[in-house]
Amino acid sequence: MSARPGAVTDTPPRHSSVAALLRAESPREPVYCIFPHVYRESTEAFVAGFPGRVLFAVKANNHPAVIRMLIDAGVRHFDCASLEEVALVDRIDQNCTKYFMVPTRIRDAARFAQERHGVRHFVIDHPAGLDKLAAEIDMARSVVFARMAVHHEAALADLSIRFGAKQDDMPALLHAIRNLGAEPALAFNVGSSVLDPSAYEYAIERTREVLEGLPFRLRLIDVGGGYPKSYPGFQVPELEHYFRAVADSFATLPLRDDAEVLGEPGRALAAPGMSAIVEVILRKDQRLFINDGMFGIFWELRYEGHERYPVRAWRDGQVHDGETAAFQLNGPTCDGTDTLPGAVELPNDVRPGDHLEFGHIGAYSLSGRTDFNGYYSDNIVIIDGAAEHPPS
Ligand SMILES: *Cc1c(COP(=O)(O)O)cnc(C)c1O
Repeated sequence: MSARPGAVTDTPPRHSSVAALLRAESPREPVYCIFPHVYRESTEAFVAGFPGRVLFAVKANNHPAVIRMLIDAGVRHFDCASLEEVALVDRIDQNCTKYFMVPTRIRDAARFAQERHGVRHFVIDHPAGLDKLAAEIDMARSVVFARMAVHHEAALADLSIRFGAKQDDMPALLHAIRNLGAEPALAFNVGSSVLDPSAYEYAIERTREVLEGLPFRLRLIDVGGGYPKSYPGFQVPELEHYFRAVADSFATLPLRDDAEVLGEPGRALAAPGMSAIVEVILRKDQRLFINDGMFGIFWELRYEGHERYPVRAWRDGQVHDGETAAFQLNGPTCDGTDTLPGAVELPNDVRPGDHLEFGHIGAYSLSGRTDFNGYYSDNIVIIDGAAEHPPS
C-alpha cells in the first residue's frame, strides 16, 4: 500500500468501463471511480432546482477532477472551510467565487484568503471572532455573515452545537458587523442529512424573527447544507421538496429588493458520481475481510445516518450475481472498530479475489480517508463510458 496522502493528480487515468478497468489491472488496492456524466446530470439538476446561489461545500469531496466537473455543470460558488480549500478552488478556476464559511480560522488565513485569492465573504458567530476577522481583512469590501444556531430534530448530525450564535444575540452581531463597515448577512446550517424539509422552514422562520427587529435590511441569507441522499435502507424525500420549502419560506422574509438565498450542498452534489472498488482478501464464513474499511472509503459510516452503500460484486471482470446472503464486512487494519455497521447482501459464493463495488460513495469518503495502519489509496480513475453507472 502507498501511504502517501496528497499525491492526487488533477487528471486521473481514464477507462471506458469498470469491467475494462478490472480486466486490465485486477487492482490489489482500493480504486475510486469517477463517472463524469453522472456528476454532470445530478449537478445540473441541483443547480436548476435550487432557488438561489449554489455553493459547493468543498469538504464533502475535494478531488480536483470532481470540482472541475461541478464547475462544468454550472457551480460557480464554493463554500470553503480553510485557506487550503480556498487555494484549491482558486487554482482550478480563478473566476469562481470562494467563500470562507467557517467561524474558526488559523491565524492570518482570512488575511491571505482575501489578499491572495480575493475572498470577500466570511462568517462569524461571536463578537470575539468579529474583532479577529476585522483585524485581518478590509471590512469595507467584505460581506460578513453572522451564523445563527438552529436546532431541529430532523437533522442527523447537529452542526449547531459547536457553531452558531443564539437567536437573541443575532441583532447585536449584525449591528456590530455593520458598524465595522462590512455588509452584514445571515447564515445558518441546520445539520447534515436533514430528513425533513420543514427543518429549513423552521430555521427561516427564526430568521424572519431576527430580521423583523432590525432597523436595516439584509441582502444575503445562507441556508447552509444538509440536503440528504438516499442509500439502501435509508430513504429520504426528493430534493425538490427541499427546494420548495426554501423558496416558499424565503419569499416571506423582509429583505432588500436584490436579495438572494444561498445554499451549501456538500453530500447532495458529491455523492452520486463516484464508486469505490475493494477486493475481498479473506472469507471466514459470513465475515469478509476487504482491503479497505472504516479508516478509508467507509470513513463516514462511523456517524449516525446511513449504514450501507449500494453494492455489486465482480468476478474476473464481470458482474457476479446469484443467490445472496448477508455478510459482515471488515476492513484490513488491526483496530477493533474496523467493521462496517450494516450487513451487506452479496452472492453467497463470494470469495477472496472477487471485487466489490460500492456506489454513491462520493461524499465524505475520499475526503475523509486516513493512512491509519499504512492503508491508503490514491488510486482514482475516471470511467468515461456514457452507459456506465455506479451501483445505485
Ligand atoms: C459540512 C457543511 C456543509 C455541507 O453539508 P452537507 O450535509 O454535506 O450538505 C455546508 N455548510 C457548512 C457550514 C458545513 O459545515
